[in-house]
Amino acid sequence: MRENMNEKCAVVGIFGHEEASKLAYFSLHALQHRGQEAAGISSADGEKVHTIKDRGLVMKVFNEENLKTLKGSSAIGHTRYSTAGDDSILDAQPVFARYDLGEMAIVHNGNLTNAEEVRNRLIKRGAIFQTFMDTENLIHLIAKSEKDHLLDRIIDAVQKIEGAFSLVFLSRTKMFAMRDRFGFRPLSLGRLPNGGYIVASETCAFDLVGATFIRDVEPGELLIFEDKKEPISIKIFEPTPKHCIFEYVYFARPDSSVFGQSVYETRKNMGKELALIEPVEADLVIPVPDGGVPAAIGYAQASGIPYEMGIMRNHYIGRTFIEPTQEMRDLKVKMKLSPMTDIIKGKRVIVVDDSIVRGTTSRRIIRMLKEAGASEVHMRVSSPPTTDPCFYGVDTPSKDNLIAANMSTQGICDYIEADSLAYLDEASLLRSVNAAADDDNYCTACFTGKYIV
Ligand code: AMP
Repeated sequence: MRENMNEKCAVVGIFGHEEASKLAYFSLHALQHRGQEAAGISSADGEKVHTIKDRGLVMKVFNEENLKTLKGSSAIGHTRYSTAGDDSILDAQPVFARYDLGEMAIVHNGNLTNAEEVRNRLIKRGAIFQTFMDTENLIHLIAKSEKDHLLDRIIDAVQKIEGAFSLVFLSRTKMFAMRDRFGFRPLSLGRLPNGGYIVASETCAFDLVGATFIRDVEPGELLIFEDKKEPISIKIFEPTPKHCIFEYVYFARPDSSVFGQSVYETRKNMGKELALIEPVEADLVIPVPDGGVPAAIGYAQASGIPYEMGIMRNHYIGRTFIEPTQEMRDLKVKMKLSPMTDIIKGKRVIVVDDSIVRGTTSRRIIRMLKEAGASEVHMRVSSPPTTDPCFYGVDTPSKDNLIAANMSTQGICDYIEADSLAYLDEASLLRSVNAAADDDNYCTACFTGKYIV
């Protein structure tokens, strides 16, 4: 079976608004950074659930005409990111189904760790699957449950799944939002200006549609949205928070607040901590845009070394299809990131990025900066070495391809051809997110190999 089915996605749910699908559409734009592979929205008008989904960016999938067909006062949406395997439109979400209680649609962010087991059991009992997505398991679990009401069936189904899930379910008249007991992936609740509700992976979606933040959906909590009432909360699991610390490092948008804190502030703290533990004499601090920007600002502020924009990013380049030769690959990188020669020529440069995964990006960037005349390039990374793959919803390569799992820091420094290389350590990372050194409310498995499930 294919790996990495639901990595790095975004979910949104709108309830109790006349233009629910339009608000879901705008929200997906705000959440586009979490997935560019496919997008989809399902809406419900009390009688039917309508779904539109396709491969590509939100802007490509939706237009004024097709949005009009997504009728109703509730809607759920999804953007999907996947690097591996099947690009089939069937693997886009929402996952929609007709079953004995009517119609439903589901969106999911996270990865189920017992997906294969559950699927094999279902297949043995006669289930037929259309996609490789673990989310489809949920449809079958709900459809096959013997309970009379959807709510009880959802409760039944989520007891059988393990791993990371932030989920939003839509029926013809109701909406449900749920987070796994660890709260790996974020999910927040907000109030729409007219009194309806929104749930979304990140609060940057709230800002866009004018919603006010109420609170995070708690780990292990199920919210039921029905009629014009306040959402009803049921505690399904005892919460044992293990928030994904990589949301702060790389994933979330800096203008979002996740797990109760500003992403921008935590990222800037990482840069400050890094400057304190890994100082180096230099003329300039420059970020790898866009991910490295807040940490580079923090590094510059704490070190007193001037911050400059040393690399320009072209925002209009999506995935490029030219790959075959090395020369073309290098060109491709330059298309996306180009050096500001006048700024860096003859200068000792500290370049800050949020993470090194395979090491290929840093290697190309450092080469590019040297070619542009930088006299020294010191690489500073605002997170610890990424040594272990993620099974809870982040798209990371296997251990073989994680450079820090296979090389020492000096080895990596030589490989990326930097004059020096240093990472943030785990204690400083925890301090940056205002957590104590022995705080166990975060999942740091990608840096420590300490897995929870
Ligand atoms: P590389 O070391 O070449 O694999 O890439 C490192 C770059 O990828 C850094 O600039 C990160 O900002 C970015 N990055 C880190 N994690 C991910 C991820 N899960 N998906 C996509 N890009 C990532």
